[in-house]
Amino acid sequence: MAATPSPVPNRVPHLPTAGCRPWHCLVHGVDEPEPAYVICPGCGHAYVLASDLLDAYREITDDGPLSRPADILSCPLCRHGLYPVTGIDR
Ligand SMILES: [Zn+2]
Ligand SMILES: [Zn+2]
Ligand SMILES: [Zn+2]
Repeated sequence: MAATPSPVPNRVPHLPTAGCRPWHCLVHGVDEPEPAYVICPGCGHAYVLASDLLDAYREITDDGPLSRPADILSCPLCRHGLYPVTGIDR
């Protein structure tokens, strides 16, 4: 029986499976909601709001003051580049 993607994101930490939503966050082990402001192509973490990205940046990194989410070019969690986002590629 082929697994089909769940209609709702699985927010309980789990290993990635074929039943996952398109974006499985490798950092938190959960399926991320879409649409989001930006989803990291590296770890799959979704920053749902621009402010989420800014908050994560300020909490995790020590790269100096940035005030605009658009200036944050790499994922604070895994350092993968966030742009350009070319869509779901898997
Ligand atoms: Zn998953
Ligand atoms: Zn990431
Ligand atoms: Zn995450």
